[in-house]
Amino acid sequence: MTADVLIRNARPFGGPVEDLFIRDGRFVAPDRTGPVVEIDAAGHIALPGLVEAHTHLDKTLIGMDWFENRVGPTRNDRILADRNAKRELGISARRQSARQILQTLVYGVLSIRSHVDVDTEIGLANIDGVLETREAMRDLVDVQVVAFPQSGMLPREGTLELMDAALRAGADIVGGIDPATIERDPIRHLDAIFALADRHGKPVDIHLHEPGELGAFCLELIAERTRALSLQGQVMVSHAYCLGMLDVARQSALIDTLAQERIAVMTVGSPSAPALPLRLMRQAGLTVSSGSDGIQGTWDPFGSGDMLERAKYLAQRNGMASDVDLEETVRICTFGGADGIGLGGYGFSKGCFGDLVLVPARTLAEAVALTPLRRTVIRRGRVVVDGGKLAGDLPEIE
Ligand SMILES: [Zn+2]
Repeated sequence: MTADVLIRNARPFGGPVEDLFIRDGRFVAPDRTGPVVEIDAAGHIALPGLVEAHTHLDKTLIGMDWFENRVGPTRNDRILADRNAKRELGISARRQSARQILQTLVYGVLSIRSHVDVDTEIGLANIDGVLETREAMRDLVDVQVVAFPQSGMLPREGTLELMDAALRAGADIVGGIDPATIERDPIRHLDAIFALADRHGKPVDIHLHEPGELGAFCLELIAERTRALSLQGQVMVSHAYCLGMLDVARQSALIDTLAQERIAVMTVGSPSAPALPLRLMRQAGLTVSSGSDGIQGTWDPFGSGDMLERAKYLAQRNGMASDVDLEETVRICTFGGADGIGLGGYGFSKGCFGDLVLVPARTLAEAVALTPLRRTVIRRGRVVVDGGKLAGDLPEIE
C-alpha cells in the first residue's frame, strides 16, 4: 500500500496557508487512517504544475555540440535549415525529447504539448522517437504529440498521408501550418486537416504566423470549420500574430468569434512580433495558453523551458507590471495552458491529480519577477524534484 502524502503549510496559487492531502495520486480530504508521509512546504506558493502548451521536443539541441547559426532571416530559410539539421546533425528525437523533458521537469513543467515534425524525408521517425520517450517518462510528465507538417503539407505530396499514419501510430493532435503563406491554399489546407481531425476524433492545433488581414481571414476560416464540425474546445491557434496587427474594432470582433467557438490561443510573447491584446482577450473570456516554442534549436539558441520565466516574458512583452497582471501571466502558464490543451483533473480541487510545484516566493508577482529556481515538484504525490534537483528513480537517457 502506498503511503498517503500530507503537504503542510502550502499556499495554493498564492492564497492562504493550507494542508494538502494526496491519496492514490489525487487530492482528497485529509484522512489520517493509514501511513502518511509528511512534507513541510514552509509557506511556499503551490502551483498545480506548469503547463508547456507549445514546444518542439524533437528539435532541441540540448546537450549536443554548439550549433553555429548561419541561418537566413526568413521563415523559409529557417524551415530549410531545420530540415538540413535533422539530416546532418543526426538529432535523435527520442534522446533530445528526454533531455528537454528532464530539464523542464526541474522547473515544474508537468504537462507538455509538443509539435513533432512529420515530413517526406524523415517520415514518422520523430513521432516514433517522441512516443518512445513519452512512454518511458509517463510517470513524470504528460506529453501530447501533435503531428506537425513543418515543411509544408500541400506542396510536399505524401505529407497528409504521413500525418494520418502518425495519428494511427499514437499522435494525439492534428497540426497545421500557415495555410496561406506556406501552403498557398488556405481552404484546401484547412479542409484537409479538419477532415483528418474529424475522421480520427482528434483536436487541431495550427501554427498561424500570417500577418494582418491575411491572418484574420485564416482565423475566420478556422472558426467556420470549428463550428461546422462542432469542434468547440478542441482547436488551438498557436501564435496568431495577426491579432496584434489589427485595429481595436477588428481585434474585438475576431476575439469574440474565437471565444464563441471556444478556440484557444497560444502565445509565446514573441519579441519579434507585435504583442497580442492580452487584456482584450482576457475580457472576452478567451482561453490563452503559453509555451516556449523551440528551446535551444536551429531556429534560435534561446530558451530554458521554464514556464515561470515565460510568464515574465509575457508580462514584459505586454508592458505589464502590476501584481494583478503578473498573476494573470501565471494563470496563463498554468490554468490557461491546462484549459487550452484540454487537461483533465488539473488544479487543487478534491479528485484532481496530486501534482504541484512549490515555489519559494511571497506572492505570485514575486514568483514571476524573481523566478526562484529552488523549487520542489510533486507528481501524483511523489517528490520528483527536491529543492531544484531531480530526485528519485529516473529513466536512463543516452
Ligand atoms: Zn512552434
